[in-house]
Amino acid sequence: MKSQLGLVTRLQQALTEAADLHALLSGIPDWMQELHDEHSGRKTEIETLEESLAAAATDRRTAEATEADCQEKLKAYQDQISQVRNQREYGALLQEIDTVKNQIRDCEEQALAALEEYEAAEKLRNEATEAFADLDQRYSESLKKWEAEKPDIAQQAEAVKKEIQELEQALPQRILIHFRRVFERHHGNAMAAVQEVQQTGKKAAHIWHCGACNYRVRPQAVVEITNKGSLVLCDSCKRILYLAEASA
Ligand SMILES: [Zn+2]
Repeated sequence: MKSQLGLVTRLQQALTEAADLHALLSGIPDWMQELHDEHSGRKTEIETLEESLAAAATDRRTAEATEADCQEKLKAYQDQISQVRNQREYGALLQEIDTVKNQIRDCEEQALAALEEYEAAEKLRNEATEAFADLDQRYSESLKKWEAEKPDIAQQAEAVKKEIQELEQALPQRILIHFRRVFERHHGNAMAAVQEVQQTGKKAAHIWHCGACNYRVRPQAVVEITNKGSLVLCDSCKRILYLAEASA
């Protein structure tokens, strides 16, 4: 039969395994990460080019609409020429016509610039999309492979979950409560390895520390862990202490 320390050690391992499996299932496996990053990078690139395309199209439409308004204005001014009554009115009207003609020219320039921008972005977008096709193909094949691996991992996760339940049932309630509290407080790790500090000098006495908080561990506690597999808490951080060799 396993000692309480053995049970707690396995519980800690199983909880870590469960968290890792869960993270894996909701993320991307290591073997796919590089491809995934490249795929998302290229996809973002294409999206950015699509945005530039849309912006250039909007700029062009705006310039063309403004130009159309100006053309109407120009036409109205030209119609008024026959109605002017004196030189001063004629001069003012010519001034207006001149201004609106300048505006039309500006709009034409803006529309042309927007068109050129659009065409440049379109060329880049097409090139990027073409280059993306192969990557996208490889990516969806990898995704398929990963999807095929998932049920197996889900099964592992299920088995670990069952083991956790069994370990929790095998442990006395007060130990489990303490374990859970420390586990929460220390972000998913309720255990700490006891570390021996190498002494130099004439009296080579053994000195032990908590591997997590560095607080001194009594030699008697180390003996209890070694010989009986007792549950000993760090006096400072209250983590459950274990000996690295013994738990291996
Ligand atoms: Zn400690």
